[in-house]
Amino acid sequence: RVIVGTKVDQNHVNYVTAYNMLTGIRFTVSRINAKMDRELTPADFGAKHKFSFDISTGNELIPSAKYDFKFKDYAPWVFRHLRAKFRLDPADYLMSLTSKYILSELGSPGKSGSFFYFSRDYKYIIKTIHHAEHKLLRKILPEYYRHVEKNPNTLISQFYGLHRVKMAYGRKIHFVVMNNLFPPHRDIHQTFDLKGSTIGRDLQESDLERNPRATMKDLNWVRRNRYLQCGPAKRDFFVEQLKRDVELLKRLKIMDYSLLVGIHDVERGNEEKLRDKTLQVFQPGGDREDEASPNMLMRTPSKLENERKARELRMLIKRERPVPLDKAAAKMPEEILDERKYHVFYADDGGFRATHENGQPGEEIYYLGIIDCLTHYGTVKKLENFFKGLSNDRSQISPIPRRGITMSKEEAERRRQSRASNRQSGENRQSRS
Ligand code: ATP
Ligand code: CA
Ligand code: CA
Repeated sequence: RVIVGTKVDQNHVNYVTAYNMLTGIRFTVSRINAKMDRELTPADFGAKHKFSFDISTGNELIPSAKYDFKFKDYAPWVFRHLRAKFRLDPADYLMSLTSKYILSELGSPGKSGSFFYFSRDYKYIIKTIHHAEHKLLRKILPEYYRHVEKNPNTLISQFYGLHRVKMAYGRKIHFVVMNNLFPPHRDIHQTFDLKGSTIGRDLQESDLERNPRATMKDLNWVRRNRYLQCGPAKRDFFVEQLKRDVELLKRLKIMDYSLLVGIHDVERGNEEKLRDKTLQVFQPGGDREDEASPNMLMRTPSKLENERKARELRMLIKRERPVPLDKAAAKMPEEILDERKYHVFYADDGGFRATHENGQPGEEIYYLGIIDCLTHYGTVKKLENFFKGLSNDRSQISPIPRRGITMSKEEAERRRQSRASNRQSGENRQSRS
């Protein structure tokens, strides 16, 4: 099933909400950016500021708006510093999220009821979140900040802002702005949402026939014998970062997150797009059994091609290497893209290029990140685990991967052969007895 991504225009049910979100972001981000930079204080993490947008008057502080609404901005100093750490250009961020260009809505609400909106250039995602997720993010913000500080290459979702909007007579809507892991200019041929659990983690292959771009899960990964093809340096670096990230999530008692893996097949390239340059393909809806992860087709902003060209030019001009974290980083790739060029895992054309054992580039680009990491292992989840545990092997429910996911082709082949020879010797033993 292919669903056409909804452009949030004036007729869209969520137009006013989206418009107000963008107006609020624009106002609060400009406001904090206008101030002289300073060091963070502990109080910055708990800070919140409320603004009233008024259709008729406006005042000397807040410009008059198209609609009446209230907007709350959380920890603006912290997020300003986070955006800088993630190397976003402040002007660029505002440009992408300007309310003149309304966003596209990604799919219908899933199990969690969250809505996803793309910025007009598809760089950013706005995700509406539950109050509990909002409270959790505020609580863990100092730890998250420290983690980002110590781990510039963290794979955990990059949060750029936390806000709340409330329309007259409407309910309060909390949302975060974060990075879109998938690039607008590359086809993602396969997507996996991996939790390291095999219970109920299967996308029916029949669903996949209907929609070849649907988001697959752990069992699909295992069944395909999939692995990320990395040489030793990249593998060590990736595994080390993943460990550190998961360690943090474990310490914060967060669960239900997944490693999102998008795979671009370099040989297949952008075939679909060559046929129709105006269409972009996205794969949202990881976990939605009922939604079967619809494939989205969206119009590309015409500016995109130009931006890509400009980027290519800039890339030719400055061929910088990503900041090395340790020895492994010294062997990291050197293909780099604007703000992403500093991030080891997002530096190869916005992603992480596969490599052969000998360091030669492989045939795939991986787009990776740990997403959906704002669910606390609270009472509800404890119960869920308990009930799942009644009927299934409890050891398989854990979100912590117990099986490596990176392997070089050579290593995979070695393992396959050793499995085969184990089987063989097992059969021999059996036939002897
Ligand atoms: P649930 O709680 O039911 O899993 P959710 O509403 O919390 O759903 P997520 O798990 O965060 O949603 O994301 C659902 C899907 O949306 C993912 O599987 C992925 O396909 C897409 N998605 C989410 N975040 C990103 C991102 N940062 N970049 C690209 N795609 C994303
Ligand atoms: Ca999820
Ligand atoms: Ca969720």
